[in-house]
Parts: sequence; C-alpha cells; structure tokens
Amino acid sequence: MKSDIEIAQEAELKHITEIAEKLGLNEDEIEMYGDNKAKIKYEAYQERMDNEDSKLILTTAITPTPAGEGKTTTSVGLTQALNQLGHDTTVALREPSLGPCFGVKGGAAGGGYSQVVPMEDINLHFTGDIHAIGVAHNLLAAAIDNHIKQDNDLDLNPNDIVFRRVVDMNDRALREVLVGVGGPNGQVREDGFMITVASEVMAILCLAEGVEDLKERLGNILVGYTFDGEPVQAKELNVHGSMAALLKDAIKPNLVQTLENTPAFIHGGPFANIAHGCNSVAATKLAMKTSDITITEAGFGADLGAEKFLDIKCRFADLQPDAVVIVATARALKMHGGMDDASVKELEEENVEAVEAGFENLAKHIENITEEFNLPAVVAINRFPTDTEAELEKIRELCEEKGANVALSEIFAKGGEGGHELAEKVLEAMEESNDDFDQLYPADMPIDEKIETVAEKIYGADGVNFTDGAKEDIDRLTEQGFDDMPVCMAKTQSSISDDPTKKGRPTDFEITVREINVSAGAGFLVALTGAVMTMPGLPKVPAAEEIDVDGDGNITGLF
Ligand code: ADP
Ligand code: MG
Repeated sequence: MKSDIEIAQEAELKHITEIAEKLGLNEDEIEMYGDNKAKIKYEAYQERMDNEDSKLILTTAITPTPAGEGKTTTSVGLTQALNQLGHDTTVALREPSLGPCFGVKGGAAGGGYSQVVPMEDINLHFTGDIHAIGVAHNLLAAAIDNHIKQDNDLDLNPNDIVFRRVVDMNDRALREVLVGVGGPNGQVREDGFMITVASEVMAILCLAEGVEDLKERLGNILVGYTFDGEPVQAKELNVHGSMAALLKDAIKPNLVQTLENTPAFIHGGPFANIAHGCNSVAATKLAMKTSDITITEAGFGADLGAEKFLDIKCRFADLQPDAVVIVATARALKMHGGMDDASVKELEEENVEAVEAGFENLAKHIENITEEFNLPAVVAINRFPTDTEAELEKIRELCEEKGANVALSEIFAKGGEGGHELAEKVLEAMEESNDDFDQLYPADMPIDEKIETVAEKIYGADGVNFTDGAKEDIDRLTEQGFDDMPVCMAKTQSSISDDPTKKGRPTDFEITVREINVSAGAGFLVALTGAVMTMPGLPKVPAAEEIDVDGDGNITGLF
C-alpha cells in the first residue's frame, strides 16, 4: 500500500468554496487561505443559531499502544462512509502540533484512505492558529516579568509565578530555564517552557464561545500569587484585551476536506493530559449547525479523552453525543493480554489468546460509556494489514458475548467503502440515544470527591491517595473559591490506572494525586497523577531528519 503522504498528494482536492457550499456556507462567509483551506467568519454561526443541531458522535478508544489505535483515522473514515450512504456528515478534529510532527508520533491527519487534506499544510503551520496562541500566551508571560521589574505594584511573588512560557517545538532543553539573567533585565527567577498546545490559552480558545467570552476567560487566567499568597489573575495585568486581539482570527474554525471531498473542521488542539484534549467548541457547534451528523474525537483512551469530553466540554457547551465509537485494535488487545514487552513486530504476529486476555481493557471502556454515562456505544475494530481473520473474529465474538455493538472497520485500506458496516451500526446506535446521559458529578461537589468519583467509576480504583501537597492545594483552592469547577485529570494514557505498567483492566489499586492546579480561565481544575510531561523531547533520530521539500514546493517524508 502507498504511504499516507503519497495517498494524500494524489488526492483530487475540490476548491474550498465547493466544500463550504456543501455546508450551505456561501463565499461571503468564508475567508480563504489559498484554494483548499478557509476560515469561517463569526457571522456564519450567528446566522444559523436557530438551525436544528445535527446528531453528534464521539470517537474514542481502548487504552492505546504508543503508536495510537486510529481514532483520527476512524473519525475521518466513518465520516466518508456516512456521506457515501447519503448522510451529510462533517468531522471536527484537533489541529496537529509541530512538536510531535518532527518527533516520534508524526502528523495527525488520519491515515491510509481516511485522511484530511491538504495533509502537509494541516500538519505544518496550517492557518497559523498555534503560532497566534503561542504569541498571545508569551505576551502575558512578558507582562508578568515586566510588571515585577517596573515596581511590582501587585506585589507578585517572583518565586510563586504559575504561568510559564511556550513554544511549539519538542525542545527538552527549555523545560527549566532561568529568566531575567544579565544585569538590568529584571528579576532572575526560575521559569520553564511548555509546548504551545499545553498552554491554557489553547484550552480557553477551544472552550470560548465568541470574542467576549474569550477575553473574559483570558482575564481569569491565574498567573501567580502575591507575597501574602493571594491569587493574581491576568486581568490585573491588563493585557487580556491584547491577547484576544492576537487571537481574533485564530478563534475562527478552519475548513478543509477529507480524501473523499467531504467537509472537515480542524480547529484547536489542547493537550489531553493537563487540558481536555478535544477540538474547539466553536468548530463542533458550527459543524452541528451545518450538517446532519457531526463526528468528533477526544484524545487518548476513553478513560481520559471521553471522560473529559463528556465531563468538561459537553458540560460547558451543553452538548450530548448520540453515540460513542470505541476504536479497538488487535495489537492493543495483545499488548493488554500479556504482550506488553513485545516489539511492534511481535505484536504483528497472530496471538488469539493474547487478544482474548486483553479484552478486559476494552470491556471496561465499554462499561464506562454505556453504564456510567448511559450512552450507546459501538466498538470499531480498526483492521491493520497484519491482523488475522482468527483475531478479528475473536474480538467480534467477545464484543457480542458482552452484548456490545461491534463492526469491523476497513477504512484505512478502503476509505469510506470500508466503513459501511460501522456506519450502519452507528446509525442504529443513534436510535438508542436517550435522555439518560449525565455528567459523572456536579461541578459544585468538593474537589476531593470529584476526583474520587472519576477514579472509582471510570478507572475502577479503590480510592484516591492525596499527598500532603495535594491536600494543601485542595484547601487553598477551596478557600480562594476555585472549587466550583470540573476536574481535568492528568494521568498516563498507557493504563486505566495511574501506573503505565498496569495493562488490561487493573484491579485493587489506588491512584495518587500529587498536585492540583487551577486553569481558572479555561474553567477547570487540573489533578496531576504521576509525572506529567508538558514539553516533549525529540528522539535520537527525529522525524525531522526525513522531512524535506523540493524545488517545486513538494513536501516529502511527513507521516
Ligand atoms: P489516534 O488518533 O488514535 O492517535 P491515528 O488515527 O492518528 O490514531 O492513527 C495512528 C497511526 O496509525 C497513524 O499513523 C495511522 O496512519 C496509523 N493507522 C491507523 N489505522 C490504521 C490501520 N487500520 N492500518 C494501518 N495503520 C493505521
Ligand atoms: Mg488522533
């Protein structure tokens, strides 16, 4: 089979005005970025406020292997399949970050015959949103240090600044830095960089509904504490207006197309650990006003991505999915079934027993969606070239025994054509949709109880061990009035527990929460378990060594 980039470059793209037309958007409502990309003006959504909302499908996954199990690919493929079957379906996805593109993971525009295009542009810079977010973020960072140098009227404690700097590159050398060194350059203090997608500004952009809301949320960012321990918010530095000005275009959803020329919104891409990991509310809502069905993805496995989508994004934006697709692969099941030390090559060899042993992991995710959130679920078995019939049949059999909806999905190899069974199952599941959906906890529950609820119900933990530091954080945040918010769990994606080595369906464990922060602008608390990486590094031989461009501007080596 051809490589992803070969397939993408051979695609015949339609002009973006034609794609917009499929959504009922006319030329005056879009701002073109070349022939194949556009941003949608604010007015387009305002005009359609009273349109009926489309159905909404969330794509999530089993606890993944480090390579990813195909949520993006499945979201795109299912969109193509539903369009083939006559349903106007739009996919809403996250924007790829440059760091992983040049590092290990590669791009994030789907794969095989289920991709969004132009994939090179989407993966590299795109419409500049992430740069704008980085600049808006660093403006506030600069204002903080400048304020401290210029007499520090707010009495900010330089050793208690919680707002760091960002850059959109995997650059581990910047994780811990000293700023202000060199004579008259301000107060010397320890600081550090995160990758831009970890910025709270990104999370805010993805949750904001309109410019006014954006500005207010930016103003609410907690930047640090005074010498007396009082919280200081961005609005006290008075640059949130400037930050919003820098983001005036970045908040407009981006429109592109799938390989089968169906509309795709790619907008916003917050981290899935310290943030909620799904594309912007603006793009999801616009898709829902302009289509019959909207498909969207949430990062990592269902214990993280789906839980945050449902408890954070759906809570704020008042959304409710009509069905949830859980992507499963034979290789991930084998990893959970005892082959956790296996190489990628070994995972490709047939091992039906390991598939069966690993099923418990998938079973837990199915139960979480159908029993904890009361939503209809469909398992999509994402077929890889090396999977055997016996393995695929076993997954189907185990799902059926459990009473779960299941379909074999061949969208990677065949595009929409390979997703008809999945599409039919999803359409059936949407009929089951009911009004029993509810968030796991009310936002005003005490902080520790919210965390315990997620840990016990979703992870299957016996309880939560809060370190002394975490207990102090809870007391302080509660006293300062930041307790009334949903909790964003920062946890390993490699296990349902907080221990990446525990595969399958872990039992008899507690999770340890060591720190709790507030993203006061985004509107959630962040509970940190284990070590959380907000600035990835590059591997010994980064993908960057393969990527190139020729004299005609053709990109190669991107994957
Ligand atoms: P996720 O969104 O869950 O992280 P992706 O859809 O990005 O996963 O897929 C992860 C990687 O696996 C991509 O490189 C993609 O091309 C590849 N991939 C996905 N599905 C298949 C498949 N069925 N066969 C082969 N490769 C696949
Ligand atoms: Mg993805």
